[in-house]
Amino acid sequence: MDLTLSPSERAFRDELRAWLASNLPEPFAGQAHSEDRDYLEYLRAWQRRLFEAGYSGLTWPAAFGGRGATPVEQSLFVEEMARAKAPDVVGAIGIGLIGPTIIAIGSDEQKAAYLEPILSGDQIWCQGFSEPDSGSDLASLATRAVRDGDDFIVNGQKIWTSYAHVADYCFLLVRTDSAAQKHKGITCLLVDMKSEGITVKPLRMMSGDAAFNEIFFSDVRVPAGQVLGEIDGGWRVAITALMNERANLGAAVRVMLARFLETLIAALPEIPRPSSSHPSGSMSAAEDPLVRQKIAQAHLDLEVFGMTADRALARVATDGVPGPEGSILKLFWSELNQRMTQGAMEIAGPYAQLADEQEVWGEISYAYLRARGNTIEAGTSEVLRNIIAERVLGFPKSY
Ligand SMILES: Cc1cc2nc3c(=O)[nH]c(=O)nc-3n(C[C@H](O)[C@H](O)[C@H](O)COP(=O)(O)OP(=O)(O)OC[C@H]3O[C@@H](n4cnc5c(N)ncnc54)[C@H](O)[C@@H]3O)c2cc1C
Repeated sequence: MDLTLSPSERAFRDELRAWLASNLPEPFAGQAHSEDRDYLEYLRAWQRRLFEAGYSGLTWPAAFGGRGATPVEQSLFVEEMARAKAPDVVGAIGIGLIGPTIIAIGSDEQKAAYLEPILSGDQIWCQGFSEPDSGSDLASLATRAVRDGDDFIVNGQKIWTSYAHVADYCFLLVRTDSAAQKHKGITCLLVDMKSEGITVKPLRMMSGDAAFNEIFFSDVRVPAGQVLGEIDGGWRVAITALMNERANLGAAVRVMLARFLETLIAALPEIPRPSSSHPSGSMSAAEDPLVRQKIAQAHLDLEVFGMTADRALARVATDGVPGPEGSILKLFWSELNQRMTQGAMEIAGPYAQLADEQEVWGEISYAYLRARGNTIEAGTSEVLRNIIAERVLGFPKSY
C-alpha cells in the first residue's frame, strides 16, 4: 500500500487541523465523570459543533447527513481528534455502529427518525447485546419479546451496557422464537429508554467509572414498527453492527499510546532509583538500564502496531469492510495497552499511589485500571484468536 497522503487527503487533514485549532472547547470545568449530567451536556454540545461543521459520521453517505468520506479520511479524522486532545464523541456507538446498521437495513421511517439525531448528539444510543449468561456466545441470549397486538412485550436482563445510564435509545437483541435454532429466533428492536418497565443500574468499574450498566426489562411494550430488519432476522442485524465495531480503532489508539509513552518518559526523572554503580549512589528511573529497555520495547511495539493498523486500513480501503484483519488489530492494541500500562506501573512503583495528588500519576494508574477491560470488550482475546486462527490462517473450526 502507498502510505503517502494524496493531495485531497492532505487538504482534508489540514482543513480539519485548522478547524480543531480554532473550535476546540475549553476543557470541562468540573470532574469529567461519565455520571455527571453537566459533563454529558458538555459532550453533547461538542458533538453538535462537530455535526454542524460536517465532521460527524464522516463515512456515512451524503444522502444520510455524512460526507461519504474514505476510510483513510476517517482514519485521519480520528488521528487528528486524538492529537488535538479533543473531548470524546459521546454518541460514538450510534455513529460507528448503529447508524450504519440502520442505513443498511432500516425502513425509511427509521432512517428519518434516527439518523440525524444520532449524528448531532441529540440521541445517545446504547448497544444491548450481552446478558449475564450470554457474552461471547451472543446467539444464546435469553431476553424474550412476545407479540401482543401491535406491540412486543419484552422481559429479561442485559449487562455491561455502556452508556445505558445516559442513553435515549437502546439497540436491543431479543429472542422472539425459542423453538427455532438459536441464531434464527433473534430480533433487533429499537427501544426508547424512557419506556415504562425499564430499570438501569450502573456498575462501577475498578477504574472508578460507572460507565456501563445492567438493564432490566419488565413487561416493556415496544411497537412492532421498532423492529429493525426482519422479525427473527436479528442475527444478520447483529453481524452488520459487529462488523463496524472493530473498524477504525487503530488511528486513535496509535496516537493515544504514543502520548501515554511520552507522558511516562517525561515523568521518569522524578522517580529516584537506588544504585551502587552511580557516583551519587542514586539515579533517576530515566538512567536505569532496565527501565530504558522497557521503554525501548514499548516504542518498538508501537511501531509494529502502527504498521498493523496501516495494513487493516489498506484492507478496508480496498474491500470496503474491515475483514478478519480487524480482529488482529483489536487483539494487538488491547494487549499492547495492558503491557504498556502495566510496565508504567512497575516503573512508577510507589509513585503510582500519588494518583490523587499529581495528574500524571492519576493518568497512569487510571489507564492501567481501565486497560484491563480492553481484552474483554468488543470481543475477548481468546475469541479473537479463534477468529484469526480460522479466518486468517485457515485452521479448522473450533467447537
Ligand atoms: C468495558 C466494557 C464495555 C462493554 N460494553 C458493552 C456494551 O455496550 N454492550 C454489550 O452488549 N456488551 C458490552 N460489554 C460486554 C462484552 O461484550 C462481553 O463482556 C464480552 O462479549 C465477553 O462476554 P462475557 O463477559 O459474558 O464472557 P464469556 O463469553 O462468558 O467469556 C468468559 C471467558 O471464556 C472465554 N471464552 C468464551 N468463549 C470462548 C471460546 N469459544 N473459545 C475460547 N475461549 C472462550 C472468554 O475469552 C473469557 O475469557 C462490555 C464489556 C466491557 C469489559
